[in-house]
Amino acid sequence: MRRNDRWRCSNPECGGEILVLANAKAFSATNPRCSCGNLMRKPYITPKLNTFEPEHGSDFSLEDPRRTPSLPDAENVQLD
Ligand SMILES: [Zn+2]
Repeated sequence: MRRNDRWRCSNPECGGEILVLANAKAFSATNPRCSCGNLMRKPYITPKLNTFEPEHGSDFSLEDPRRTPSLPDAENVQLD
């Protein structure tokens, strides 16, 4: 869980919602659980990555060519 994350109960009858005040140092594969027993979901996704730097947002994927291990030495040689 990250700071400022909001989690909302998946049970609409419950409507429970939590706000994370501090980063959790231990991570779990499962979502946190509401006091009513249902799993919590994250309804809000922090849009920082997309709105702050839109030019970087589009290539923020696994197919980013800058992340592929090409030959950096060869590029340096061509720059000279
Ligand atoms: Zn609940």
